[in-house]
Amino acid sequence: MRTQVAIIGGGPSGLLLSQLLDVHGIDSVVLERKTKDYVLGRIRAGVLEQGLVRLMEQAGVATRLHSEGYRHDGALVSYENETFRIDFAAHTRQSVIVYGQTEVTRDLYAAREAANGKIIYEVEDVVIHGADTDAAHVTFTVDGKDRRIDADFIAGCDGFHGVSRQSIPLDVRREYEKLYPFGWLGILSETPPVNHELIYASSKR
Ligand SMILES: Cc1cc2nc3c(=O)[nH]c(=O)nc-3n(C[C@H](O)[C@H](O)[C@H](O)COP(=O)(O)OP(=O)(O)OC[C@H]3O[C@@H](n4cnc5c(N)ncnc54)[C@H](O)[C@@H]3O)c2cc1C
Repeated sequence: MRTQVAIIGGGPSGLLLSQLLDVHGIDSVVLERKTKDYVLGRIRAGVLEQGLVRLMEQAGVATRLHSEGYRHDGALVSYENETFRIDFAAHTRQSVIVYGQTEVTRDLYAAREAANGKIIYEVEDVVIHGADTDAAHVTFTVDGKDRRIDADFIAGCDGFHGVSRQSIPLDVRREYEKLYPFGWLGILSETPPVNHELIYASSKR
């Protein structure tokens, strides 16, 4: 099989890239390790910053995001007995939109399917060959059969633990990382929101 861009990973990055390329008349194939249902069942992000919102608009997939998402102009930080608000709109003239990543992915799948975009699910043993050459290609298996895709470009959108990162030769690979000295825990509850905007709370517990 031949395509202009082979995209490894059918999460939000891979699907959005495929959709943006399509808007510009560029052909792509997305290779996803899991099933569509599995990807849609993966609960993750909810806070979408302006950069992503603009990309979704450019990709023509922001209608539902704007009609169903919640716009937040700030967020609250709570620690011990104090709470203060960070006013995004006043400081950056930007807001964020709260809209689940599951819904982002659902909208992107719908757009790719409407455009007859090629997504191959449940691929295994994806290997990028010749990443340091002008003739890189990808091999993988699906339904027990060996497959190969030749492409002008290969885009690694398979996350931190995917194969793409490891395929970039060490002498050209650059990694940018910022480690924060804390972790976070989110709890989903079926209750009305306690506040219109998000409250990030720090607790010794
Ligand atoms: C609990 C949680 C909450 C979050 N909240 C927010 C938030 O509020 N706002 C925000 O902006 N971000 C948030 N994030 C981060 C956000 O979810 C990620 O930035 C986003 O998922 C990255 O998308 P991606 O497509 O690059 O990678 P992924 O979502 O990781 O998708 C990668 C895809 O590649 C596939 N894949 C992996 N390896 C292979 C392989 N070898 N072959 C083929 N396919 C492969 C995977 O199955 C997956 O579908 C949160 C993350 C978590 C875990």
